[in-house]
Amino acid sequence: IRGAGTWKSERVIASRQGPHLRLAGGGAGILNFCANNYLGLSSHPEVIRAAVEALEKFGAGLSSVRFICGTQSIHKDLEEKIARFHQREDAILYASCFDANAGIFEALLTPEDAVLSDELNHASIIDGIRLCKANKYRYKHMDMQDLEAKLQDAQKHRLRLVATDGAFSMDGDIAPLREICQLAQKYDALVFIDECHATGFLGPNGRGTDELLGVMDKVTIINSTLGKALGGAAGGYTTGPKPLIELLRQRSRPYLFSNSLPPAVVGCASKALDLLMESNAIAQSMTAKTQRFRSKMTAAGFTISGKDHPICPVMLGDARLAAVMAEDMLNRGIYVIGFSYPVVPKGKARIRVQISAVHSDEDIDRCVEAFTEVGRKHGALP
Ligand code: PLP
Repeated sequence: IRGAGTWKSERVIASRQGPHLRLAGGGAGILNFCANNYLGLSSHPEVIRAAVEALEKFGAGLSSVRFICGTQSIHKDLEEKIARFHQREDAILYASCFDANAGIFEALLTPEDAVLSDELNHASIIDGIRLCKANKYRYKHMDMQDLEAKLQDAQKHRLRLVATDGAFSMDGDIAPLREICQLAQKYDALVFIDECHATGFLGPNGRGTDELLGVMDKVTIINSTLGKALGGAAGGYTTGPKPLIELLRQRSRPYLFSNSLPPAVVGCASKALDLLMESNAIAQSMTAKTQRFRSKMTAAGFTISGKDHPICPVMLGDARLAAVMAEDMLNRGIYVIGFSYPVVPKGKARIRVQISAVHSDEDIDRCVEAFTEVGRKHGALP
């Protein structure tokens, strides 16, 4: 792995999550551009206070799974709030969205059914699909012709489920949900979306990709995380039709056989949702900043993948170039991460920059200036 230049090491942070970090062993005032803290809620004072209150009132944890003695009123309240936020009938909590994705396909689909999955779906969707016995189709990334061909072939099966990330985390591109839902209607399929990189900030009220693209009533199942925009602690969920949620409570293995979410974590997510439901100002606060970064970087000569999403992958191609440039950015006080195979396809290495609502215009400009210097130094720019 080291020989291939794809060894991943972990930087140790000595401060809270936020736009400005302190690294362990020095490195204060580092500008952070690689967290999924899209709305800056990870260290929001009201979110922290809600966690402390929940910890004091409900304890450190449940020492139990939900169905034995691990359900508190706050878990039920949060599930109700999540369903309301997404305008769905019901919701079920998991320890993570990885677990939600691991648990849904096996519980829902039988060998008589079919699942059709975008080839660039998140690893947890891929693993969840691996665990189920349904017939598996993998369609080319966001390719509607290919999806249609696969849906035609899948007509012989009892039930069809199209599964896609709402926003793709490595490319910053957004699934063509309108077209997917039209095809699903035509070929009698259900639609599942993973909204980890959309919940809280995409769409006029931050409801996600389905709101952004006007198909809230056409997507059947949403899985998402509490560990990114919604306070950033941990936890995941499925929201959708009541009978499906009831089925998951009976059959979904990561739910049945894993501990309940800790009260402090529930408190964080619950407060984050309150803040988002009170006003859409937070959800809207990121758009101009994303635009600023994307347009300035493009003007400087970089290729930024995706469109209008705060995930801004700076495409470089070579794995070593991505690693060396990321290192040099840190020397200039900017924390960004290079991604290479197997996280992204071979030859498509990149540095992923993530914009947060709490970045200032000056933070963004400093990041662009550092990229320009480092890009020239290492030959990524002329
Ligand atoms: N799905 C997608 C698209 C993700 O990006 C992630 C996190 O990286 C997950 C699922 C897993 O989320 P969690 O951290 O809640 O397990």
